[in-house]
Amino acid sequence: MKFTVRSRGDQESNMIAQKVHNYLEEFQLTSDVSEPDIVVSVGGDGTMLEAFHVYNHRLEDVSFVGVHTGHLGFYADWQPEEVEKLVIHIAKTPFKIVEYPLLEVIIRYYGEKKAERFLALNECSVKSTEGSIVMDIEIKGESFETFRGDGLCISTPSGSTAYNKALGGAILHPSLACIQLAEMASINNRVYRTVGSPLVLPQHHTCLLKPVKEADFQVTIDHLTLLQQDVKSIQCRVAEEKIRFARFRPFPFWKRVRESFITG
Ligand code: NAD
Repeated sequence: MKFTVRSRGDQESNMIAQKVHNYLEEFQLTSDVSEPDIVVSVGGDGTMLEAFHVYNHRLEDVSFVGVHTGHLGFYADWQPEEVEKLVIHIAKTPFKIVEYPLLEVIIRYYGEKKAERFLALNECSVKSTEGSIVMDIEIKGESFETFRGDGLCISTPSGSTAYNKALGGAILHPSLACIQLAEMASINNRVYRTVGSPLVLPQHHTCLLKPVKEADFQVTIDHLTLLQQDVKSIQCRVAEEKIRFARFRPFPFWKRVRESFITG
């Protein structure tokens, strides 16, 4: 089996990443940065988001596992003290794979620029570079509402505990293949009206955001921020691809939610 280890880059994460790397080589596993079968991310959720974006062109062939060097992460759920155990699991046991849904985002432009496609593990957020955004929102090809406000966040179920949660969105179990659309401070008065509640859309229900007037947008895909100009539409739906996490022991999602937000 081929592996790679990615570190957040701080001293502690580098040290643990090196330790994992050495142990795995002692077990005769081969280090391969370009085509690993397993990616061990050492750091926090942000490190896992980065690892996902580095290897998102070969999601069918790679699985991910995360060690946290700060507080418990949603994607990074192994502790530094447990790395010996983790390495033995990776080297010796056929591991279980858990697949989580992803968000597909297609941005289309006016003019010559070709449409671009992105995959998000957590979410895509759309904000203005100046003032509020005004977007017509279509769901499954039908006009739904015109949004005016700070922005919109479209998240995956595993991303529902991140930015989406701060916006009052629901926490969704990652076994549900869906996406969630949450508003950021919508303007609601006699002129502008939105539904006001987060919406959960199933697979194949596409959500299309169409700018009402020409403007620049700040679009984020997970931790990546992109300045977008001449945007004609932003299309969001559940992606065909999924991310695969290597599971060596049960750590139920609701337990992680409880330990991250209630008892931790
Ligand atoms: P960061 O360093 O600002 O960290 C953001 C925090 O979000 C970290 O504590 C991280 O552990 C946590 N986080 C990330 N993914 C999570 C998940 N799926 N469930 C629960 N917590 C999660 O930024 P980063 O590490 O580069 O992470 C980028 C993420 O930050 C974005 O994908 C977005 O979800 C989140 N974010 C949150 C807010 C907010 O809550 N108000 C605002 C902007 C971005």
